[in-house]
Amino acid sequence: MLKGKVAVVTGGTRGIGLATVKKFLENGAKVVLFGSREDTVKKALDTLKEENPEWPVDGMCPDIGDAKAVAEAFAEIKEKYGALDILVNNAGISARDKLYDYKAEDFEKIIRLNVNSVFICAQAAAKIMKEQGGGVILNTSSMVSLYGQPAGCGYPASKFAVNGLTKSLARELGKDNIRVNAVAPGVTRTDMVAALPDAVIQPLIATIPLGRVGEPEDIANAFLFLASDMASYVTGEILSVDGAAMT
Ligand code: NAD
Repeated sequence: MLKGKVAVVTGGTRGIGLATVKKFLENGAKVVLFGSREDTVKKALDTLKEENPEWPVDGMCPDIGDAKAVAEAFAEIKEKYGALDILVNNAGISARDKLYDYKAEDFEKIIRLNVNSVFICAQAAAKIMKEQGGGVILNTSSMVSLYGQPAGCGYPASKFAVNGLTKSLARELGKDNIRVNAVAPGVTRTDMVAALPDAVIQPLIATIPLGRVGEPEDIANAFLFLASDMASYVTGEILSVDGAAMT
């Protein structure tokens, strides 16, 4: 579905990002995964190469909060692979702080990564995509972007902003043949969720109509669809992949 396409996935070293990298590789894309540290990037690349040594996958760890570092990384990718067709803005952190204890610097930290870096990466990628005649920008939102959550308000606030960026950029960039969409995962079995005790997980599962938490591959499948030409007339969409959960 992505034969010959060149993709960047931020936060591609584990969880949803790593599953998306793998899905894109299985579907013929060349992928550059971004991580925050060299050792985790190397570990992800080793895991993928172990699975298939032929996969065209590379890794980088630019500071995605720094516009200059991102522009340089994307220019290097364009130079090496000849294009940048797909960007998946997936890197993100969450929060559980209660409002009364929430430090302003922690609120800022989450906005810096979950929102500012999406803006910075989208801007740098769009410049290249416009010049080459089009592309696809995908963002990772969350179920909490619809309902909020009862603690850690910086996290839902950041994901509401991701939805706003998604819808606005879709409208702004359509004329340049750049589609912009988001996937809004529900509770998904990444490291964070796997660490939760059964006593927390089971009551949670009981509230999900499909009766299970999401797997990273469920989310990767949605990214694959949106990245592919199967979604050629889909833009500005926030696609929920949450088993119809509402909490
Ligand atoms: P994860 O913690 O397993 O992975 C997060 C990724 O982000 C890692 O690759 C990490 O290297 C990267 N990252 C973290 N801080 C970074 C920084 N400062 N700079 C660059 N990269 C950084 O998380 P995940 O569960 O796979 O989450 C991926 C995305 O999915 C996030 O945007 C998250 O908000 C969203 N999401 C997750 C769930 C869930 O239940 N797991 C639900 C809804 C949305």
